[in-house]
Amino acid sequence: MPRTERNAHAIAGTITRLNAPDYDRWAAQIRRTGGCCQPIHLRGRVDHRHATTGALLRRYTTRTEPDGVLRLPCKTRRASRCAACAETYRADTYHLIRAGLIGGKGVPTSVSTHPCLFVTLTAPSFGAVHARRQMNGKPRPCHPRRDAETCPHDTVMSCTIKHHPDDGRLGEPLCPSCYDYTGSVLFNALASTLWKRFADSLRWHLAHGHALTIKAMRDELVVSFAKVAEYQRRGVIHLHALIRLDGPDGPSTPPPMWATADALAEAVRAAARAVHVASPSSPDQTSRLLGWGDQLDIRPVTLAGELTEQAVAGYVAKYATKAAECVGTLDRPIRITDDLDALPVSTHARRLIAECLRLAYLDGLADLRLGQWAHMLGYRGHFSTRSRLFSLTLGDIRAARERFVHTEECTREHLMGIPEDDVVKVADWHYVGRGFTAADALVSASLVGSRARRGAR
Ligand SMILES: [Zn+2]
Ligand SMILES: [Zn+2]
Ligand SMILES: [Zn+2]
Repeated sequence: MPRTERNAHAIAGTITRLNAPDYDRWAAQIRRTGGCCQPIHLRGRVDHRHATTGALLRRYTTRTEPDGVLRLPCKTRRASRCAACAETYRADTYHLIRAGLIGGKGVPTSVSTHPCLFVTLTAPSFGAVHARRQMNGKPRPCHPRRDAETCPHDTVMSCTIKHHPDDGRLGEPLCPSCYDYTGSVLFNALASTLWKRFADSLRWHLAHGHALTIKAMRDELVVSFAKVAEYQRRGVIHLHALIRLDGPDGPSTPPPMWATADALAEAVRAAARAVHVASPSSPDQTSRLLGWGDQLDIRPVTLAGELTEQAVAGYVAKYATKAAECVGTLDRPIRITDDLDALPVSTHARRLIAECLRLAYLDGLADLRLGQWAHMLGYRGHFSTRSRLFSLTLGDIRAARERFVHTEECTREHLMGIPEDDVVKVADWHYVGRGFTAADALVSASLVGSRARRGAR
């Protein structure tokens, strides 16, 4: 459809929507999605039946909803896909990380006295890359080398530029032909395994330092984690982790006297050095032994210190909504029909994607599913995870919000005089699509915009 015709079509669509008899109901649905730009459309019904008699007490069906569907927020955590839902995810993550640091939302405030470290585990070097360096806030040259070597590809391995933060060369190798793309991709693919080994080793070092077995230590100490994965500009994952020591029942119990922040830091250092993971091999690809890089940052989290709980919670929450697209790759899987040369990605990302696709076809490496995760440059782990006892969960926060939203429905059930335990809920839902038509997107933007303006006042 030509552009002018498309616009006329959209305007006609908005008029139809605004004049529809069920417009108010539609607008309420949209407001409930919190400004989601790609709401999920569901068709179905929920029956509330009496547990013993089976009598139908109440039926909700989407048949009476506008267009016969219920629109729900997409709940993505990725800001590149839906700003509104990513913001909800970020705020929820912030609150649960904060609760894990200072208490609140059911976590006792005494948790703030437990030893807690903010640890950054990085990847090793896969070759020199352009980097932004600073000393005391002043920009420094990237790779100044007076007697720099010339690599076999005739590149002088030196760069004296003080790179601007927006410089497209940041993260790109000084010599792409020398760069170890295989190592970079395999590291991303195995980062989650390496983290698991690190966590096990950390427990072992803590127990060993106090002459305990891991099993015996479990009776007096629990190690809790919350971690986020972040891409460095060079396209490799590093992990930020909050590591906290609790008593045997988690945040409500204090850790033993010997379990100090210093003992934890020592165990973190030892574990980060100790763990490795061997990549699977094939006749065309020998196994690599991969470990963490030398750069290990360990900082105590304190209420009034250099690194406050607010700063940490904000930092973790921010990275929870980012993915690989900030290093110039795609935010969707690579399709078999994609022309790799034509993809709108950076040259460095293209090479990393190509390496994922090359390795994906090798016998023995299939378990890494590098084809499916090529757009993530090999990483297929979660971006934000927490151990069970770290804090409350995102599910808890969402359930609390949904309880609030559904108060009206619950009240109606109580009005019928039937206790909640005697009511069985039978739901039958079908996914029928997502997103907006051009017309609905316009009306929705004006609705959410007016709400945002009201909120700002
Ligand atoms: Zn959304
Ligand atoms: Zn440079
Ligand atoms: Zn070279």
